[in-house]
Amino acid sequence: MKRAKQIIARLKDAGFEAYMVGGAVRDYLRGSVPHDIDVATSASPEQVKALFERSIDTGIEHGTVMILIEGQGTEVTTFRTESGYSDNRRPDKVEFVNSLQEDLKRRDFTINSMAMTEQMEIIDPFGGKEDLSAGIIRAVGVPQERFAEDALRMLRAIRFSGQLNFHIEPVTKRAIIEHAGKIQSVAMERIKAELDKVMVSPAPRISMGYLIETQLNRFLPSGGLFELDWSGYTASKDPLSGWFYLLHQNGEPFSAIREYRFSNQDKKDLQHALEASRLPLWDNWVYYSFTERQLTIAQATSHKTQAVKERQQALPIQSKSELAANGRDLMEWTGKKAGPWLKEWTLHIEKAVVERRLANDKEQIKDWFIDEYHRHT
Ligand code: ATP
Ligand code: MG
Repeated sequence: MKRAKQIIARLKDAGFEAYMVGGAVRDYLRGSVPHDIDVATSASPEQVKALFERSIDTGIEHGTVMILIEGQGTEVTTFRTESGYSDNRRPDKVEFVNSLQEDLKRRDFTINSMAMTEQMEIIDPFGGKEDLSAGIIRAVGVPQERFAEDALRMLRAIRFSGQLNFHIEPVTKRAIIEHAGKIQSVAMERIKAELDKVMVSPAPRISMGYLIETQLNRFLPSGGLFELDWSGYTASKDPLSGWFYLLHQNGEPFSAIREYRFSNQDKKDLQHALEASRLPLWDNWVYYSFTERQLTIAQATSHKTQAVKERQQALPIQSKSELAANGRDLMEWTGKKAGPWLKEWTLHIEKAVVERRLANDKEQIKDWFIDEYHRHT
């Protein structure tokens, strides 16, 4: 907030209007820390750039310049309206306007259409504050028109419902039902980004409920898969948890989600976590093959959380450091100096202990080791 205020002060000193806008104002009023603060101003992008030492043209054709202060970026956008989303990604045309009111009008929901001065005065032409305290997501203006302009807004409404634990106002909801099919024209990465946010939101069940109630899911790739009981879903910070749950509960139709264009890493982690979730879990598998992330993802189905955790805790050892014998013991028992053999034999012992062929007991390890060692050398 400090940097945004600094930027606003500089713009105002130069005779321009400037405000904090959108999500940051919403989050500030809810008492949560905004993760980024957007600034809207009457200054043109060129005028903005001239006032600050360091800036990046992140979206200059749409009026956005990123101002860097102490290595941190704040997006400053010229008051604008926009029209036409023929590629459903970016507006075809943005028109700079000279009033904040016009700028706020183009925004999606009342709770996202407030501005704030550097003295924390709220400018709220559409009743956003009231909707915020009532927990309502309501389109600005005529919902049908707003969703026809940009179909992604329907999915954004659904995303915010889970993120904020809000409900969607009935007229807005009705418009989603009417326009649901239009989501098909929206670029996949925009859809995926919203769904990812649902997966990590505090109340994913609310979003999933709306997705199904409005039947918007029917127009998403493999959309039928979303029709699940989400009450068993335990969200993590990783959106892949949600996708894991979706696939797991549907009997792993992995092919079905090729359309969502996961990265290769995501696909690998998903597949691995799904494999692991098929009981019985082998001890070796749990011990050697789980990355932190795969473990997190696999915990999305709550009973599996228990299974994996219990299995892990029940292992004879959790890591090599818990072995009852170490490298020094092996050197003593063989009279040999350190070398590659040490690592190799430690691994043999570790494996035997994990697989319960050998107890994690120093004397027993010694007997087992001396025996095996002499047989192999
Ligand atoms: P988050 O906390 O997820 O970042 P946010 O409200 O900041 O939520 P952004 O996607 O970062 O959401 O967008 C910033 C602001 O831009 C929104 O608050 C809203 O005012 C406006 N906005 C974003 N996307 C749209 C859209 N598709 N149509 C209309 N206004 C939008
Ligand atoms: Mg934001």
